[in-house]
Amino acid sequence: MNRFIAAVTAGIMVACAAHAEVTEEDIANDQTITSQIVTNGMGRGLQRFSPLDILNKDNVKNLVPAWAFSLGGEKQRGQETQPLVYDGVMYITGSYSRMYAIDLATGKEIWQYDARLPEGILPCCDVINRGAAIYGNNIYFGTLDARLVALDLKTGKVVWNKKIENYKEGYSYTAAPLIVDGKVMVGNSGGEFGVVGAVYAYDAETGDLVWKRPTIEGNMGMLNGEESTMTGELNATWPGDMWKTGGGATWLGGSYDADTDTLVFGAGNPSPWNSWLRGAGQASGKDDHSGDNLYAATRLGIDPATGEIKWHFQTTPREGWDFDGVNEVVGFTDKDGNKRYGTADRNGFFYVLNREDGAFVRAFPFVQNITWAEGIDETGRPIYVEAARPGDPSKAADGEKGEPVFAVPGFLGGKNWMPMSYSEKTGMFYVPSNEWGMDIWNEPITYKKGAAYLGAGFTIKPLFEDHIGSLKAIDPNTGEIKWDHKNDAPLWGGVMTTAGGLVFFGTPEGKFIALDDESGEELWSFQTGSGIVGQPVTWDQDGEQYVSIVSGWGGAVPLWGGEVAKKVAYLNQGGMVWTFKLPKQLAAAE
Ligand code: CA
Repeated sequence: MNRFIAAVTAGIMVACAAHAEVTEEDIANDQTITSQIVTNGMGRGLQRFSPLDILNKDNVKNLVPAWAFSLGGEKQRGQETQPLVYDGVMYITGSYSRMYAIDLATGKEIWQYDARLPEGILPCCDVINRGAAIYGNNIYFGTLDARLVALDLKTGKVVWNKKIENYKEGYSYTAAPLIVDGKVMVGNSGGEFGVVGAVYAYDAETGDLVWKRPTIEGNMGMLNGEESTMTGELNATWPGDMWKTGGGATWLGGSYDADTDTLVFGAGNPSPWNSWLRGAGQASGKDDHSGDNLYAATRLGIDPATGEIKWHFQTTPREGWDFDGVNEVVGFTDKDGNKRYGTADRNGFFYVLNREDGAFVRAFPFVQNITWAEGIDETGRPIYVEAARPGDPSKAADGEKGEPVFAVPGFLGGKNWMPMSYSEKTGMFYVPSNEWGMDIWNEPITYKKGAAYLGAGFTIKPLFEDHIGSLKAIDPNTGEIKWDHKNDAPLWGGVMTTAGGLVFFGTPEGKFIALDDESGEELWSFQTGSGIVGQPVTWDQDGEQYVSIVSGWGGAVPLWGGEVAKKVAYLNQGGMVWTFKLPKQLAAAE
């Protein structure tokens, strides 16, 4: 080959490679590029809103299956993933840290990756995975042994595989990574094992750690291989050495607000659950904040370049009901044109925050009969009902079991992990909520590495005869619930809205449903054969609109759901991707 041809050939190869790469710009515009889905949340703001309206209220009745794909294997369990779509291929993660690349045209498998999981992993809440992220020529996902893996998009071959934390200490990872400016942002799981929550930024190309930001005060951050700054102020809101095993796991991942260049991650429950072990100011809570346990049960605004904390908003100070503060923080613009965040907390209250500085704007309940707080005051702090706090076991006659209380919501939350959607069309949030309570009591506990670190006992119970699940359409400007769609079993899957006026979600009973975004009326449904705990997506190709959902019952409810778990024990497991399309000839059909 002469030099000229070699140069031309190399040029073509570079051009081809460049064409296939997913760029920062592709990721930044994922919410508007309708032919692709390369991020969790269908855009880093996590609105899960598609501008597509090929499929709409009039023609959704003509939506039909295009193909289905089985995840296979004897071990099925919960499938909580959100599919990604890029360049003719769908990428999904599965239970037990598996990933699949599927041909979009035929539904045939292109490659499958199975992480080799060691004995002794400690996932708290089923062996699930919530999705991946695409950047460059790689796809990234976390594994149950607390590792972050980069795979080649085309082949599924491992590019790099890095340890986030030690799984033997109770760490794992299940959330979808978030890519910002060439860095892979992830969190950790393990808040029930006394881990320390953190947000990590890895170089997407090399897998090297760029920075780490622990969520619990007293712990040191890292930047470029050296210690950076301490999180918070040592012992300001934690007694003694409790901050070393203080929880605050960042297990649901984060969002990114491009307008303010801010990462937002939530931190889970403080460890242990028994709040009496975590500080002096807890008895009053009103004026003495020394037992607040920052930054557990808190949303954190973080600088994506350095990992420094820009602001924090704690939803449940001196938390004692497992009200993890991890729920997704979704950027929107309110009716007056203000930049806001909306977040529906596990504690039963929906919060609106200022996107500039995380400052509290308003809060309102989104589930009924909340017992632990009368409301939220003008500073954003809960107005506690002290009698609804599980009692101190050290004050019990036997010193073993504190006074039990019945608390609403139950510890699985007014809303758990399952992501809500914000519709740019209606200006409303569509929140998958659950109405349930629990008996809860505190017990003595001491920390032991790799063992559950709770100091509490509990049983989840239904509140109402006719439903636990309730998908609610909520006006964030007023807190008004416009309509709700009740479901017998607890809702455990994600929600998606579209410019076509549709709200898609699935139920544990297996139904994949499209509702009218204004009335809540059911317009279409399809029985997928197993419970849905996954997250719907939509995209278009050659003028036709597609919708996908992964079906496969599991997650925390069957494992932790007490009386509710017995109630839904009849539900069958599975593991199937369903892809639907509106055939061109039916798009205009009546
Ligand atoms: Ca928790």
